[in-house]
Amino acid sequence: MQNYDLSKRILVTGGAGFLGSHLCERLLNEGHEVICVDNFYTGRRSNIAHLLSNNCFEVLRHDICIPLYAEVDEIYNLACPASPIHYQFDPVQTTKTSVHGSINMLGLAKRLKIKILQASTSEVYGCPAIHPQNEGYWGNVNPIGLRACYDEGKRCAETLFFDYHRQHGIKIKIARIFNTYGPRMYPNDGRVVSNFIVQALKGDKITIYGDGSQTRSFCYVDDLIDGLIRLMNSDEDVTGPINLGNPQEVAVLDLGKKIIEITRSKSDIVFQALPADDPLQRRPDIAVAKEKLNWKPKVDLEDGLIQTIEFFEKLLKSGSSDIKIHS
Ligand code: NAD
Ligand code: UDP
Repeated sequence: MQNYDLSKRILVTGGAGFLGSHLCERLLNEGHEVICVDNFYTGRRSNIAHLLSNNCFEVLRHDICIPLYAEVDEIYNLACPASPIHYQFDPVQTTKTSVHGSINMLGLAKRLKIKILQASTSEVYGCPAIHPQNEGYWGNVNPIGLRACYDEGKRCAETLFFDYHRQHGIKIKIARIFNTYGPRMYPNDGRVVSNFIVQALKGDKITIYGDGSQTRSFCYVDDLIDGLIRLMNSDEDVTGPINLGNPQEVAVLDLGKKIIEITRSKSDIVFQALPADDPLQRRPDIAVAKEKLNWKPKVDLEDGLIQTIEFFEKLLKSGSSDIKIHS
């Protein structure tokens, strides 16, 4: 039964996106009221359609670059396109979402004297000179490259969070999220896991950028959401930044082969040019998350891929895989 004493009204920006929709669902299941704020730039109504009949769930179509007045107890700030093709489609808007959007959400947190969590990213480390990456590393980002709208926007958002914390006493939590995958990724958003699965299921060529020796560490969405909620509920002195990700590192070529194997696909592998500023390696050091949040990922890459492949199989069969974005 719902415990109304512990129930909070929680604002989730970017709540109609991949991670946001899973977060809204988990918070509702925990008995909270959730207000999902989204401008549907990359988010989709279908991600949250199953939540709309829940009386504790509200949706507001709103761009966080514009100030928002709402009465809530906590804010999770997830709004921002996360896939390179989407954040590079309108790079000025991407930076505005991270910078103006964060200022607006921090202003709301300041007025209400509430906690606010920022979905930051491993991209703040850029193409890292240390491996694995720990939170003390300041990063190696090209400030004028194609990825800078996202990386520098997120870095500036972290600066704003810390300055609001120091200057105004706002309670902040910063998660540095590493590559996350799972059901509700978009089939055509260009991220590696969704690309490879869709290509394998359709029998299309698997597109490896570069020679595929670059590495990433993939975290299953359920684990990541668990980490975000633990961070929000952590002791007040825990501000982060805290890495949240799965330290199981894999080369992109090996990921492609694994997906071909699991799907028993006949797809061939093709090699294409590596995009500019594509980081060569990425693996989180999660010692801080283990110590401060008692968190570590539980879902193994193969098990998570099987769940994700099942999702895409259903989506492709339903014929609804061509999704319009930037609406
Ligand atoms: P997503 O693109 O699926 O979701 C982003 C959501 O934000 C979408 O629903 C979009 O419509 C909304 N949005 C974008 N700009 C907005 C604006 N100005 N106002 C209101 N809503 C806006 O991406 P995701 O994978 O769910 O990522 C969510 C957050 O997590 C992002 O902030 C991203 O930077 C961060 N993150 C994600 C990953 C990952 O692997 N998925 C890794 C690191 C960080
Ligand atoms: N990648 C690839 N083929 C694809 C899509 C991506 O080889 O079809 C590579 C990409 O160059 C990068 C890695 O996979 O090295 C992860 O890409 P993604 O866009 O998923 O995330 P990010 O680069 O932001 O970590």
